[in-house]
Amino acid sequence: MSRVLRVNCRIIKACLAFALWCCTSFAVAAEVAISSIRFGENGATSRVVLDVDSAIEPRIFLLAGPNRVVIDVPMGAWRGNGANRGLGLIGQFRHGLFDADTYRIVLDLERPALVSSSFALPPREGYNHRYVIDLKSTNAADFAAAVAADRAVASAARPDVASVAPSVPATRPSAIPGAKKVIVLDAGHGGPDPGTLGVLGVNEKHIVLAMAKAIKTELERTGRYTVKLTRDRDFFIPVRERFVLGRKLGADLFISIHADSIQNPTVTGGSVYSLSETASDKEAERLAARENKSDLVAGLDLNEADDEVAGILIDLAQRETLNYSAQFAEILVNEMKRDNPMLSRAHRYANLGMLKAPDVPSVLIECGYLSNKDDARRLGSAEGQRKIARSVSRAVDRYFEHMIALGR
Ligand SMILES: [Zn+2]
Repeated sequence: MSRVLRVNCRIIKACLAFALWCCTSFAVAAEVAISSIRFGENGATSRVVLDVDSAIEPRIFLLAGPNRVVIDVPMGAWRGNGANRGLGLIGQFRHGLFDADTYRIVLDLERPALVSSSFALPPREGYNHRYVIDLKSTNAADFAAAVAADRAVASAARPDVASVAPSVPATRPSAIPGAKKVIVLDAGHGGPDPGTLGVLGVNEKHIVLAMAKAIKTELERTGRYTVKLTRDRDFFIPVRERFVLGRKLGADLFISIHADSIQNPTVTGGSVYSLSETASDKEAERLAARENKSDLVAGLDLNEADDEVAGILIDLAQRETLNYSAQFAEILVNEMKRDNPMLSRAHRYANLGMLKAPDVPSVLIECGYLSNKDDARRLGSAEGQRKIARSVSRAVDRYFEHMIALGR
């Protein structure tokens, strides 16, 4: 063999080894495309079939109150259509990115049911990879026992709370002289929790993310603020983790962004909520119940989540923060009123889980009603978003001027 040929052979071998390494490395991190979820029904049994482009081993568990089946697909990505109704034992379902590594499908159960079998099918007869889950109707007691068993498995697998407890910076970044104030914008919902569905067919989670980005642009344009988003894509963050994330990001001000819906399609206008143990009125109470339900919609076990949210009681140290939150809410309502339709009593109080940071003034904006055509169009348009963004930016300016005047 000539020398040139030997060298070439060595290069080819090295290339092949590199290609193989690439294949195996990328195979580990590659997405699994889910192209459809299909349902079948046979008496007391319902079948769920996931069509996927490679073999999967999903984690499947049951939740009660309401009864649900949760399917977590590692590295999953949705490539299918928008159907959201099951068959037989399965009522509605929804899905979305739960965290960076997990695609979650949440099936609402019409009646208590158990997973009687689940298995993968390799490609054959014109089908790609499939994963099959069979559900069998059961009684309430057996369902409750299965939920408890799944919860025991989940808590055994969960890391120690102390080891994942969020660290809060001892000094806020903005406390350094000359540093910019940090504004954290929290686009509501995301992933398997779509929020409310607007009359124009767009989910709240998409509208509020676009709104958060528009507000970020306006605030950054002033050159006076560092602006951070709790999410910049369509993924899920539990309600109780949102304010924790705000604190971790060093927030001086935390603004959660939502859009409401109501049965009466003529109701329009925005409102601003600040935290209070008791709601200012019945509608505010209903709204808090709806917004706090986000975790449940996304398939979280509220048995634990509720305890945590409820456990954070408002103490004396928080009174000052509540006061500032209410002052910012007043300023925000006044600024929003100038350019945007608002409810007549636009500053309201409610017990909202995402506003519970003890030391960060926090408000939640309901930008308007997606159940109203004019509001849905306005909130979905770049111009409508810009108008709200400018109002928020002016309000943030006025709030910090006010704080300086107070010597804070
Ligand atoms: Zn919402």
